[in-house]
This record gives sequence, structure tokens and C-alpha cells, in this order.
Amino acid sequence: MRAQPKASHFIGGQWVEDPAGAGFDSIYPATGEVVARLHAATPAVIDRALAAAAEAQKDWAARPPVERGRILRRAADILRARNRDLSVLETLDTGKPLQETLVADAASGADALEYFAGFAATVTGQTIPLGRDMAYTLREALGVCVGIGAWNYPMQIACWKAAPALAFGNAMVFKPSEMTPLSALALGEILQEAGLPDGLFNVVQGMGDVGAALVTDPRVAKVSLTGSVPTGRKVYASAAEGIKAATMELGGKSPLILFEDADLDNAVGAAMLANFYSAGQICSNGTRVFVHRAVKDAFLEKLASRAGRIVLGDPLDEGTQMGPLVSDGQMRKVLDYIAQGKAEGARLVCGGARVGELGCFVQPTVFADVRDDMVIAREEIFGPVMAVLDFDDEDEVIARANATEYGLAAGVFTRDISRAHRVVGRLEAGTCWINAYNLTPVEMPFGGVKASGVGRENGHAALEHYTRIKSVYLGLGDVDAPY
Ligand code: NDP
Repeated sequence: MRAQPKASHFIGGQWVEDPAGAGFDSIYPATGEVVARLHAATPAVIDRALAAAAEAQKDWAARPPVERGRILRRAADILRARNRDLSVLETLDTGKPLQETLVADAASGADALEYFAGFAATVTGQTIPLGRDMAYTLREALGVCVGIGAWNYPMQIACWKAAPALAFGNAMVFKPSEMTPLSALALGEILQEAGLPDGLFNVVQGMGDVGAALVTDPRVAKVSLTGSVPTGRKVYASAAEGIKAATMELGGKSPLILFEDADLDNAVGAAMLANFYSAGQICSNGTRVFVHRAVKDAFLEKLASRAGRIVLGDPLDEGTQMGPLVSDGQMRKVLDYIAQGKAEGARLVCGGARVGELGCFVQPTVFADVRDDMVIAREEIFGPVMAVLDFDDEDEVIARANATEYGLAAGVFTRDISRAHRVVGRLEAGTCWINAYNLTPVEMPFGGVKASGVGRENGHAALEHYTRIKSVYLGLGDVDAPY
């Protein structure tokens, strides 16, 4: 299986290769096959991308917003028309099953392009009456924005960053994770085909050093990272050094609280989605499942029976429900956490082992009787490992849910509407769900609090993070000078 792109980088509307950059492979995690060979960006490639972006941005920002929107709308249509090919590409790069990539990746990218296409022409400033004088504000583009992506949702992440950036008049240089370099390149070609002028969306490949070089460049006005908390700390610090705007979409250890009156079948389904979708490699996953003691046994029984029926296997088979983890390294990290869970005395309800010798498959795993101080209840595992914790009352569970450095997401299942809103109001999380989990429509702002990040993606909130305000005071009378 090959998915070799025409070249490693896409800059100024052209494919660019510089074999002097360190070579790296895109590996299909289901089999270990190399699907593409690429080169990391050299300083010359990085410079070329930033120069192309800076050059193209001024003209783009000066275009009528409706024109910018029209191009993004066309790109959304192309993404949808090519959904199957793009989904296969994403499956080869990430190992996520086609059953998921067909509905969750290019599709949500297209939603973002369509949403911000429509948003572009609605942006206005304010007029501010000041008696004799007045002031008004202009919403301006920031300039060149850098996007840096994680490997779990490569196309979605590229679109969630590029769509608002471009809609509001910015240019973007995007660096995908070196583990999943392919779909951002496809997005570059599609945007060009949709009519995006050259230089506005550029893709450069590489590891952390390439990301770091982009962030420190003085031509860059804003950085948006999706990644882990340790990387976020470095990138945020480096953006602060240059007084640049920053959005940080980082990791989490989110609580999912199931009260005794919850619809148990729905709660079980949500807990499974919150831990096993994308083989558990989702930042907002509800990996600490707090279950009221009164329904714990019934919950675990239903969960074990449904988890045991999850179909693991060839991600390209549309009947497969769970694929491998993204890499051998990630699989080993997850297996280490499982070993730690066992060693710390958590009760293994199901799963707990690697599947087969080929590929990076791990069984959907559930631990019960997990205590708050166990490593599997404190650290982000980023794999199909659910920790079930018992609780007795509302105040107690809220305090325990909040006792973490993270604050990305949280979920509550209950039929009591007062309790649902009361609990959500007290949870320290940027994104919450009531009787649902992990749904992230583009209309809804998404992001974290505490160590899980700063800023928001999607929804109207994205405007604040890809534009700045210029205030203009308009003197309408004589200047009143005391000299
Ligand atoms: P990493 O933090 O390892 O990497 C994220 C990106 O940053 C990669 O492209 C990486 O390059 C790059 N990078 C690494 N070091 C630097 C640096 N010093 N300067 C600039 N860029 C750098 O995350 P993963 O790729 O392992 O993704 C998993 C993490 O992402 C999890 O913690 C998950 O929770 C989080 N995540 C958060 C989401 C959110 O929206 N909140 C959504 C999805 C994931 P490379 O890896 O190529 O070396």
C-alpha cells in the first residue's frame, strides 16, 4: 500500500522537496508497512514557507470577505466529494478504522470550512458614540499564523485551524505531526483547486524542531497548537517570548459522571465512545468514569458485555470498529499503563492485552475499583483504557472530578435536569456534555481550562483568536489644546 505524496512540502502553491532534510516514514500502524517517505523541512524550506505566507497575506486580507468565504465553501464541497479517498488516506496514516474516518475526519474538516466560509462576511466592528466625537473598531487579520497538529485527527485539526485563519484574512503555515504527514498535503491541493491564492496555506513537514523554528520566527503573529501539555508549555513560552497570540489545545484526563438515575444503556454507550473511539486517542476522552455506587455493578456488567463485542481488526474493512494505536511507541506506552493499573491493584474487568503480533492493536480495556491516586486515574494514557471509579454523593464527585491539573472536558449523565446544570456549572472544564459525550460540532466552541489549554477553536469564539481589534477615534470638532 502506498500513499506517496508528490513531495514532502506544499509551499506557495507548489510541491517542494529538499532531500537535505532528515528522512522519515509514514507507517500504516495496522501492518507496519511504509506508506510514504518524506523529508523534514530544512531552514531554507521553513523560510520559503513563511516568506510565501507573508507575501500572500496582505492581498488576501484586502479582499472582500464574501470572496474569501466563497473559496472556502468550494473547498468544503471538494472535501465532501472526495471523502472516501481522503478517509482511506487518513486510515493509512493513523490506523483509525474507515468506519470512523468516513464520518469524522474530512467530514468535520468540511464542516469547518463551510461554517467559516459563511462567517467570513458577517464580521463587523462597532461604532462607539462619544458625544461630539465618536470611535469605531475594525476587525483585522493577525497576519501569518502557524498551526501545529497532533496525530489523532490530522485533517480535522488542519481544517479547524486553517478555516478560521483564512476566513478572517490570515495566511497559515501548517506543520502536521511527523507521524501523520499526508492529509494536510491533500488539503493544500484542495484549497488551491478551490481557488485559494498561492502562499496562503502552506504545509511543512518535520518534528518538534521544525515547529519550534516556526513559532520563534518574527514574521509569525499567532500560533495554534494541538498537542500534549509538555509541548504546550514549550510552545506557549516561546510564543510569549515573541509576544505572539496563542491558542493551546492540549491534553486531558476528563471526568464522566454517571448518576444513579442515568439511563444506563445510554451511559454505557457514552462511556465506550468516550474511551474506545479512535482506539482511545482523543484529547477530550472521559477516561475517569465516576459511577454512582448504586448502579456500579449493573453498569460494569453491561459494559463488559458490550466491550467484549467490539470488532477489532483491519481498519480498511468497514465492519471494523476499532483499529490499532498510531505507532509502536504509543502501543508500548499504553501497555505500560495497563501493567501499572494491574500492579496498583485496579480490577481488570476486560481487555488488558495486546492483540496479535502484527500491528499496534490493544484490546478495549476496563479497570474497575480505581482509586484517585492511581497513575491510571491521574495521567493521560491516550489509548483504549477506561478507569471506573465509584462515588456516593454529588459534592464528593465534583471535588474529585476537579482534582486534576487538566480541565479539557467533562460529562454528566442524569435524568435530573437541575442536577445536570448544577453539576456542569461547578466542573472545571472548558467543554461539557449533558447526556452526551465527545460531540464537537463546529458551531460549538471547543477548548480547555487549567493545563488543558488557552483559547477556543470553532464557533463564534474563533473570531477572537484569529483577528485583532483596531480602535479608531474620530475627532469631529476643534482640538481643545490648553497650550
Ligand atoms: P505532541 O505534543 O507530542 O506533538 C504535537 C505537535 O507539536 C506535533 O506536531 C509535534 O511534532 C510538535 N512539537 C513537538 N515539540 C515541539 C516544539 N518544541 N515546538 C513546536 N512544536 C513541537 O502531541 P502528540 O502528537 O503526541 O498528540 C497527542 C497529544 O495531543 C495528547 O496529549 C492529546 O491530548 C493532545 N490533543 C489535544 C487536542 C485538543 O484539541 N485539546 C486534540 C488532539 C490531541 P512531532 O510530533 O512531529 O515531533
